[in-house]
Order: sequence, then C-alpha cells, then structure tokens
Amino acid sequence: MLPENGLPEHGRPVPDLLAELARLRADDLPVRGGKVTAYVYDTGRAEIHDGAARAFGEMLEVNCLDPTAFPSIVALERQIVTAVAARLGGGPHTPGIFTSGGTESIMLAVKAARDTTGRTAIVAPITAHPAFHKAAHYLGMTVVQVPVDAGFRADVDAVAAAITDDTALVVASAPSYPQGVLDPVADIAALAAARGVLCHVDACVGGWVLPWLPDVPPFDLSVPGVTSLSCDLHKYGYAPKGASVVLYGREDLRRAAYFASAEWPGYTVINSGVQSSKSAGPLGAAWTTLMALGDTGYRALATEAKAAADALVAGVAGIPGLAVLGAPAAPLVAIASTDPALDVFVLADKARERGWFFQPQLAYQGIPANLHFTVTSVSSVPGILEALAASAEDAVAAGPPDVPAGLVESLDLDALTDADFAGLLGAVGGEGGGMATVNAILDGLPPATREALLIRFLSALYSG
Ligand SMILES: *Cc1c(COP(=O)(O)O)cnc(C)c1O
Repeated sequence: MLPENGLPEHGRPVPDLLAELARLRADDLPVRGGKVTAYVYDTGRAEIHDGAARAFGEMLEVNCLDPTAFPSIVALERQIVTAVAARLGGGPHTPGIFTSGGTESIMLAVKAARDTTGRTAIVAPITAHPAFHKAAHYLGMTVVQVPVDAGFRADVDAVAAAITDDTALVVASAPSYPQGVLDPVADIAALAAARGVLCHVDACVGGWVLPWLPDVPPFDLSVPGVTSLSCDLHKYGYAPKGASVVLYGREDLRRAAYFASAEWPGYTVINSGVQSSKSAGPLGAAWTTLMALGDTGYRALATEAKAAADALVAGVAGIPGLAVLGAPAAPLVAIASTDPALDVFVLADKARERGWFFQPQLAYQGIPANLHFTVTSVSSVPGILEALAASAEDAVAAGPPDVPAGLVESLDLDALTDADFAGLLGAVGGEGGGMATVNAILDGLPPATREALLIRFLSALYSG
C-alpha cells in the first residue's frame, strides 16, 4: 500500500516494482502484434525493438542540454538528420533538428516562420494536424483554416484566397493523418513562393514511408517553395517514442528555431528545441533503429504496409454499410459508415470486445465520423476485415448509442468539480461501458465545446 503522500517510507525492491509495472500494463493496449491500429508501430522484428531498447538504455543518462559536454549526441543527430534529408529532398548540408516528436518539430517550424517573417498567421487545411493549432496557441499566432476538396485534399484556390500580408506560413500534409491523402504540395508550395510566404510540409506520418513507395508525386524539400518539413521517426521509422526530425530549406530558418538565453547568472542556455535538459535515450534508440533496418529494411516495411492497406481498402468494399474515405497515398485508411443504422463508435466498442482497437475520429466540417487505421506490415488484414464485418453486424443489431437529450446543454461546466464530472462520465459509459456514447455526445457538439469537455475529462482522469 502506498502512503497518502505517494512515496514509500523505505525504498522497495526493484523486482517488486518491475512486477508492479507489468501488472499495471496488463490493462494497456498491446504495443505489438497489429491488433491496435493506431498509436504503435511494430516492425514484427523483435530484434529491432530489443536493439533500440538497449541503445535507449545506453544513452539514457546522457543529457542533451549540453552538446559540448556530450559530443556523442552531435554525431548521432548529424547522422540521423543527414539520412532523413537524403530521402526527403535535401542534401548533406540540409539543416535539421532532432526533436521529441511531430508536435515539437511543427512547433519549431512555426517558430522559425514567425521569427523570420515577423508575421503571425498560419494558413492550414482543416485536415492539418492540431499541432499547428497548438504551436499557434503557444507562440501567439493564429491558424486560418481552409477547406478540402471531395477527396479530402487541400483546396489550392482556398489557400490562395486565405494568404494575407500577415501570413507567415502555409501548410500542406504529406499525407494528412485523418484520411491518409496527399495534399497538392507542389501547387501549394508554388503559390507560397509566389506570394513570398514560407511553406511547411507536414510529413510527420508519411515522411518515412512515402520515399519507398512507387508513383508518389513530389512532396518533399526538393519541391520549389517548400521551406521546411517534419518527419517522425517514432511512426513509420519504427523508433521508440521521442523521435522526429524537422528539416529546413535554409540555414537562417534553423537558427530562428533555436533559443538562447544569457539573462541569468547560471549556465549558458542554448537549446535547439522546446526542452532543455533531456535524455539522449530516444536519440540513441532512433539512430540504432535506422541503422539496423537500413534502406532495404524500410523499403520492405513500407511496401508490405502499403500492400496491406490496399488489401484493407479492397476488402472494405465487400462489407455492407462501410466505405473508405478518399484515396490514401500512405498506409492510413479511414472507414466510415454508409448506413444510418450502423454507428462507427458502436462498431469500435464491439471490435474492442473482440480484442481489436480501431481509432474513432469525430465528424468535422462535413467529413463524417469514421475509424482510423494506421496499417503496418504486421497488420493482419483478413483479421481486421473479419473483425470489421462481425462488429458491424453487432453494431447494427445494437443500434446507435442513446445520447441523453439535452445533457450537454444543461451542464454548467464551470460549476462541476472533477469528481462530479467523473460521476457523470461513468453514467454515460466510459470505463467498462464502452466509449460509443461518449464519442456520440462529442460528435454532436461544436469543436469549442468538445475541447472544453475533453479538458474536463483529462482533469477528472488525473484526479483519480
Ligand atoms: C502524428 C502526427 C503529428 C504529431 O506528432 P506527435 O509525434 O504525436 O507529436 C503531426 N502531424 C501528423 C500528420 C501526424 O500524423
């Protein structure tokens, strides 16, 4: 038993603690095996992940705070950035930064744009990742959203119309996460260049899979007008979490991402990223994963993942009431319902009972609610299709979730304590009861109300 203050009076034996961690993890989704079609990326090659874990441990206590104290981190980062740049339209001298993830890479692209242009607006398609909204929020900027076409690709005319004298940056995704489709990068980048605006390509999810797929239109730093690009190695790079790269088309952009402070009497602060002290574990693990797989390893993984995604798309066409949204360029597939009696959130709960996790995506600006599949080479497509078909039948039989009428409208969020909110959540579903009702409630609300509820949810979750 833990005392109230959380810390045991005397240290506990490490084997006990590890056993406790293992028990706690029993309720987690499995990170390997392909039954969780989001969040995790499994190569199916245990020796790769084990090697990364050992490298993580080797570098764990090295502090990236001071690259002169730990020159190994400079050598590793330079090699990683060179490898990423070489496959994404750069060269041996392309400036880049190794970061903790896509959000940080995007934050650093946005900061560079703000600080080199002095402008504060970001033009982004509605399908662009929330990391741009987060960067804008943190950096005192605004996002101007533009619509997508019927294939979920950014509307170039709308981008053109949205650019003003205050536009620092326009965004294209390669591909967008929600539907896996490629924005018209060359058109958007050309437009940006013509208007004197910077252009970021968000290749966070696609950047380490598209280079090995055939017939992909140019989307990287080689495209005229593209000034920065983000690529997550902890996605299709299969590195443990905490690994992404942002590349810049110009030296001055990378310098504008850096931060230095001499405004105190302590050690000199010079940071390339958002964090200051940080473990070199993710850097060592990402380097090891990249070098252990090599070009042919990634080619095989990318080819197999795309073939699996194509098979999933083809298979869904044979399941009544389901349809794929758009034509994915990368192994990301969004599946929506075409039958009002078939609720995708109920389907996800039914699939969960069968041991599968299918990621719900809420309706947004005319794009229907759907389930997202990040497909990898370990995804068993026959298994997914079987689970989809059976869960779809169950979902039709169960019918759409009961959303208590007027529930949200009658809530005074400001007056509710976290405990009250948790009670309410328990009453509509949540733990054990499945997430369909919660998702259906969120689905019926405008984004700002969704956000307010989600923040209450997170706070209640961590209040215990
Ligand atoms: C995952 C993702 C991000 C954000 O990355 P994190 O590593 O989760 O911070 C940004 N853009 C796209 C397209 C993504 O798929």
